[in-house]
Amino acid sequence: MRINFDEISYGGPRKTYCRICRRKLTRVVRESMTISPFNKNPDGSVRSREEVSQAVLAKLKESEIALMLNGVVCSKCEPEEDTHGK
Ligand SMILES: [Zn+2]
Repeated sequence: MRINFDEISYGGPRKTYCRICRRKLTRVVRESMTISPFNKNPDGSVRSREEVSQAVLAKLKESEIALMLNGVVCSKCEPEEDTHGK
């Protein structure tokens, strides 16, 4: 059995940088939430479509700020794993 709840999703490509080599990069940031009886406001009331939409946008904003502040590590700077095995 599968119940489909409406999902609200926002996001898209955002500019960021590699925090190691400072190369400019683009990363896709996306946040989504479903409208369901389980998606409630802090006061316990079920979120309306508009409230879910606002909550997703707030989450997206946080993710965008974190991305801008922290940057990412590009594939060239990612430490290679499995090279220190004994
Ligand atoms: Zn890099």
